[in-house]
Parts: sequence; structure tokens; C-alpha cells
Amino acid sequence: MCRHVAWVGAPRSLAQVVLDGPCGLARQSWAPQRQAHGTVNADGWGAGWWSPARPEPARWRSTRPLWQDASFASAAPHVSSTCVLAAVRSATEGMPADETAVAPFAAGRWLLSHNGRVDRSVLPVEAWPRAESVCDSAVLAAHLLQGLEGAPDAPRLVGERVAAVGAADPTARLNVLAGDGERLVATAWGDVLSVLETADGVALASEPWDDDPRWRDVPDRTLVVATAAGARLVPLADRGTTPTRAAASPLPQEVS
Ligand code: GLN
Repeated sequence: MCRHVAWVGAPRSLAQVVLDGPCGLARQSWAPQRQAHGTVNADGWGAGWWSPARPEPARWRSTRPLWQDASFASAAPHVSSTCVLAAVRSATEGMPADETAVAPFAAGRWLLSHNGRVDRSVLPVEAWPRAESVCDSAVLAAHLLQGLEGAPDAPRLVGERVAAVGAADPTARLNVLAGDGERLVATAWGDVLSVLETADGVALASEPWDDDPRWRDVPDRTLVVATAAGARLVPLADRGTTPTRAAASPLPQEVS
């Protein structure tokens, strides 16, 4: 399992979100506390952030362990953003090792990271040409991010698609963390996820980066939608049938 983290709210430096914190992502790359699958996350790392310069986010990815990246550690305190998303990777057996397989994956304004694994054969074939890599997480990202650009109900679409993929592959672990610069959309599906709501923004993380008592564990099978103003948690019911491919079925209308 990889680990991921994101912030939406008042500007924070990349160092604050990605590196700092006694149990932040940097430490989780070599000593995660709550990781059930894998031991270290040394197969690369990636970070993305949004700025007024353009609608699409900046993205910085590497196949090296995060703790070895002295150049990023030097630059990170100098770059701030209202929305930051980052991940460290522990590659699933058989998946590619190059940078294109490292999260976050991109589509337009959106970025997406995936903690987990999924049987790629349950994902719609239409997703493959858009995928940045044949890595399961990249194909999943291409599927989940399809058509989100400008969609008012983007969080609901992500939740429905994750639930449908989970129904098609009951062994899948589907913790995803996505963002478009204004909001974050995450799922807890087979792995841990925590949320921190503060006066100036919301953090989502596989593991809390410090011992702030406001961190809450997100229940499994839950969709989280966060903006600078707060976070909303919505249960994701298991879908009854097992389709051969991931067909979505609707979530309640209030999820948008
Ligand atoms: N399956 C993805 C990969 O191979 C994510 C792995 C993980 O969550 N450890 O990169």
C-alpha cells in the first residue's frame, strides 16, 4: 500500500503538507504506522499543486524514495498552494517501475492517487487509451477521472465508480484521493484514511501527520468530499450484484 496526503484551504507550503510533521508523508515513506500491506514506500513519490498560473496543476514525480530527494526538500518550503496532493509508492508486484506509474495521475484539472490494488480486467476497456501507464492505479485513475472536468456532480461520480469497481473486484483495495484545486474527493475502501478539519482548511491523509486530537478516522466504505470550508462523509454501500465490468449505480442525490 502506498500512502497519500492532501490539503485544501489557506496556503500551505509543500514542505508543510508533504515533508513536515512527525508522522508526515516523508516519515511514512520509511516508517508508516498503520500500513497493513508492504513495509516501506520507497518506489517513488509524487506531488501536485494548483496555482493561479494555469488551470492544470503542477506535478513533480520521481522513482526515487522521497527521503532521498534533497532537491525537493530544498525547494518545498518556498512553494505554497491552497491545494496540494502527494503520494509515496510501494509498487504492487508485477507493476511497472517507471515514473509514469507513480501517483498522482492527471487528467485536465484533476489529480488522483490510489492506495491499493485492483484487477485491471474489471476496468472498462475505454479507460486504457487514456491511462498514463499500464499500472493498475493509472488505469483506475483514467476510469475515475473520465468526464469529471466541469461536472457539477464529480464527487458523486467518483463514489459511484469506486463502489462499482469494488463490486466487480471484491478483493480490490480502493483508497483513492483526488482533487481539482477547489475540492478533494477521497474514498476509504479497504485501507485506513484520516481527516483533519481546521479553521483554515481540511487535510486528508492515509495516516495522521501529527497527534492533533482533531484527526478522525474515516470509516471503511466511505466517500469524503472536502473544501476549504469543511469535509462531508457519505457512506458508500456495497453494490449488490457482481458485474463483469465496473458499471456505476447511483449514490443519493445530495452527494455532489
Ligand atoms: N497498485 C499501485 C502500484 O503498484 C499502488 C500500490 C500501493 O498502494 N501500494 O503502484
